[in-house]
Amino acid sequence: MVKICCIGAGYVGGPTMAVIAVKCPEIEVAVVDISVSRIQAWNSEVLPIYEPGLDEVVKQCRGKNLFFSTDVERHVAEADIVFVSVNTPTKTRGLGAGKAADLTYWESAARMIADVSKSDKIVVEKSTVPVKTAEAIERILTHNSKGIKYQILSNPEFLAEGTAILDLFNPDRVLIGGRETSDGQKAVEALKSVYAHWVPEDKILCTNLWSAELSKLAANAFLAQRISSVNAMSALCEATGADVAQVAHAVGTDSRIGPKFLTASVGFGGSCFQKDILNLVYICECNGLVEVAGYWKQVIKVNDYQKSRFVNRVVSSMFNTVAGKKVAILGFAFKKDTGDTRETAAIDVCKGLIGDKAHLRIYDPQVSEEQIQRDLAMDKFEWDHPAHLQPAAAGADKQVSVVGDAYEAAKGAHAVCVLTEWGEFKGLDYRRIYEGMQKPAFVFDGRNVVDVEKLREIGFIVYSIGKPLDP
Ligand code: NAD
Repeated sequence: MVKICCIGAGYVGGPTMAVIAVKCPEIEVAVVDISVSRIQAWNSEVLPIYEPGLDEVVKQCRGKNLFFSTDVERHVAEADIVFVSVNTPTKTRGLGAGKAADLTYWESAARMIADVSKSDKIVVEKSTVPVKTAEAIERILTHNSKGIKYQILSNPEFLAEGTAILDLFNPDRVLIGGRETSDGQKAVEALKSVYAHWVPEDKILCTNLWSAELSKLAANAFLAQRISSVNAMSALCEATGADVAQVAHAVGTDSRIGPKFLTASVGFGGSCFQKDILNLVYICECNGLVEVAGYWKQVIKVNDYQKSRFVNRVVSSMFNTVAGKKVAILGFAFKKDTGDTRETAAIDVCKGLIGDKAHLRIYDPQVSEEQIQRDLAMDKFEWDHPAHLQPAAAGADKQVSVVGDAYEAAKGAHAVCVLTEWGEFKGLDYRRIYEGMQKPAFVFDGRNVVDVEKLREIGFIVYSIGKPLDP
């Protein structure tokens, strides 16, 4: 029986391995992590991440051929194929701080593999890593090899949170990069045979290692670039009376461009886009490609601009002050169908409004109060606004409260901000919301989910990204 072990039971490791286990009943899959609480959650009724369809997949194979464990070393030692799906955040200090990928977790996993291995292994990069990481990992493994042979493969993950299970069952492509030696190609074939259980052969792309590593960064950069492009257009639409949805539709019907990822918003978030572009920028700079680095940097600058533009719009519309005013925040996750708040635009928008002394009542169907309070912990941030409330004096919790539904959030509020495109925000009873709010009642839609005309008829003053402003 082939044994697979995945180091890292996060948003990628958990769902990816669950799908491999369900599609390959003859393969034993162990997902291991140093986080005891995460593993306990994977073994419980309430999984550590919210992802549509994930519960069913895990229930089908957990305890049969899918295991979650903190016994990292044992499972790595026993595995034939070791996926490494640990976090690769942006470095916060030292050389490359603020841009380069922090490979501490990766290196520690590689050294542990070298320490505990007693048989030959295929080591698969599942994490998103800088191009050439495989070379570094190869060095660590071969210099500590004790006669054991390792083959390193790059198999970046393209799933999107919120549709992870659908994406994994029916991927646009699976990418495998390997060394062009005969051992390297044997390893590629071994990994291909795992995916071949459910992925058609023409969707399994095989490349060299560096192309596979770079393709993941390139794909995220292209996706984020489309969002920044349409968001840049949204600012111009507001300035001219054009409607960004109409422009995006007109542009996207060109078959060379296509309609996907052309929705204007308050800005992209998530743990990947910004981090991976910064990583790309750093790699460009290290290779002396300053102009290319500048090109990709602009994608992030436009994203930051979009978030601050939104906050400015809220404050300026509300007579240049939100001090002491109640603002309902609908949605905190970085996108719908996930509880993930990493790099969510909501954090920056909320920080901006708190900095202007607004009182926030936040509701998100999948994000816990604890998570929101952690993300907005005031002492974690430096404020541009000199008059912010000091947490010790006023208490961040008093300025920010988390409530159980949208109506409670909007009760008595001066404004509603929609920051995540949850389906339920489309169908709210906005007349009821209007009646319970202070007047004039404002809606600031950062995701273009509300029916602007209908809300204006009710009496709201409505701002929706990239749409003509209130007449
Ligand atoms: P995550 O933070 O949710 O999970 C990573 C896990 O690795 C954590 O639970 C952590 O405890 C564990 N870990 C770290 N070091 C370890 C070690 N030495 N031994 C055992 N466990 C260890 O991260 P994620 O969102 O799953 O992302 C993982 C990688 O996949 C990142 O490189 C990310 O860029 C990439 N990726 C993420 C997504 C996404 O949508 N989240 C999509 C594609 C690729």
